[in-house]
Amino acid sequence: MTATHVPGLPVIEDGQLISTNPATGEEAGRVPVADEKAVTAAVEQAREAAVWWQSRGWEGRKVRLLRWRTLLVERIEELAELARSESGKPINDGIVEVTAAVEHLDWAARNARRVLGPRRMRTRLLLAEHVGHLEYQPYGVVGVIGPWNYPIVTPIGPISGALAAGNAIVFKPSEYTPVVGQWLADSFAEIVPEQPVLRAVHGLGDVGGALCRSGVGKVSFTGSTATGKKVMAACAENLVPVVIEAGGKDALIVDADADVPAAAEAAVWGAMTNAGQTCIGIERVYAVEPVYDRFVQAVVEKAGKLRTGEEIGPITMPRQLEIIRDHIEDALARGGRAVLGGAEAVRAPYVAPTVLVDVPDDSSEIREETFGPTLTITRVRDAEEAIRKANDTPYGLGGSVFGKRDAVRIARRLRAGMVAVNGTLTFVGMGNLPFGGVGESGFGRIHGEDGLREFARPKAITVRRARSLLPAMTFERTPAQVRQIVKALRLLYGRRR
Ligand code: NDP
Repeated sequence: MTATHVPGLPVIEDGQLISTNPATGEEAGRVPVADEKAVTAAVEQAREAAVWWQSRGWEGRKVRLLRWRTLLVERIEELAELARSESGKPINDGIVEVTAAVEHLDWAARNARRVLGPRRMRTRLLLAEHVGHLEYQPYGVVGVIGPWNYPIVTPIGPISGALAAGNAIVFKPSEYTPVVGQWLADSFAEIVPEQPVLRAVHGLGDVGGALCRSGVGKVSFTGSTATGKKVMAACAENLVPVVIEAGGKDALIVDADADVPAAAEAAVWGAMTNAGQTCIGIERVYAVEPVYDRFVQAVVEKAGKLRTGEEIGPITMPRQLEIIRDHIEDALARGGRAVLGGAEAVRAPYVAPTVLVDVPDDSSEIREETFGPTLTITRVRDAEEAIRKANDTPYGLGGSVFGKRDAVRIARRLRAGMVAVNGTLTFVGMGNLPFGGVGESGFGRIHGEDGLREFARPKAITVRRARSLLPAMTFERTPAQVRQIVKALRLLYGRRR
């Protein structure tokens, strides 16, 4: 039966978490709410499942992960439709999200053995009679806490790395998108029915807190910076390591030799896709003087064609509407101008595309994560000023540069974990590139080789193969042998270059 609720607001009724469509208030689905005991029990069961999962070996895990990948592709429309009904995301945005998730799953499955598998290490002088072995062992159970804005790809990033590394997972989806989270766990269980290798537990923030304290070996958190700090504090109680993928205030720089129409098109996509509810969404643009006017005009033209309820979905979390309105009003009150949209663009549950210029640097629209389809464009003298302003934020997630001659040099100087040159957000689609930020955007990486290593502990083993010729690490060494060691050291490392 379909009940109607306050659009977008999840409700708990009779031990069930009911999630709703933010555009219509229709029920999207319901899942059971876990308490602390249930979370601990899920982690205990996952611990046993992890032993079974590890014993499948690299090949056994790869085959099953690739089957899961194929299932996601087969049901891509179903999953995108579920994401739409729960978060309001337009179907095509959901399809793109599943596409990126599939890429990460495929890459992690195919590369885990190469990146994490056992290898021999070359011996060094002082221990020449030993051989070194390095391997990466799984943590056991990894807790994954996810946000609502990309309920498919944000958890699949750490889930695919952690599963490929040999861990079992207990996953706490956002209270706004629990049904998509449950769908992911259920679809995995279709491929791996033997053991609860990937389990979902549901509820509000306290369930995430319980997961941090439940004895998991590692926590991967994706969400806001404020909650990330709480997660870290909860994990610190038991010295549980964490990956924090938090918010951002990403900037795009348009240099003098940029392809202006292409930069405008990418800026509009980067800022407005998913109604701007994107951690790596473009929120600020710094355009150099010679291209500024043309760029603003092209952005306004392109963004003005986007329709709320079509390309621009609803704002998923109702209280975010207040934040978006506050930021726009603050920008206007401090002397900024709306060249498209404005405060009146906020009409629950939608926000129409809004482009602001002349916004002062101390405005919240420039300093804080807005998470809506708004974009500021600031005129700068040159790329130097653009870099300085782009970096003047406590966040450091992603960024973008449009230009030719100096674009990559500028990209290197942006204080961010990832930068797209002549594109926006593109780094999230490459399975072999690490994803993560600096500063208030968090630390640790998902995706790529770094994202696999994040979910395994390096283990070093040395094995003696012969008698020591230069025995240094023993009380049995003679003064003559110590002299030989010093001599060998001088020969090898003692010469100034
Ligand atoms: P939140 O920080 O509000 O929530 C994230 C998750 O943490 C949810 O599952 C939430 O549960 C849970 N949680 C809440 N309180 C606690 C707690 N005390 N202990 C443990 N877990 C808790 O973020 P949003 O869901 O609102 O997501 C939007 C934010 O995520 C934005 O800032 C965005 O930039 C960021 N983000 C970052 C990404 C990245 O990769 N860097 C990617 C995508 C988003 P519940 O929902 O039940 O409260």
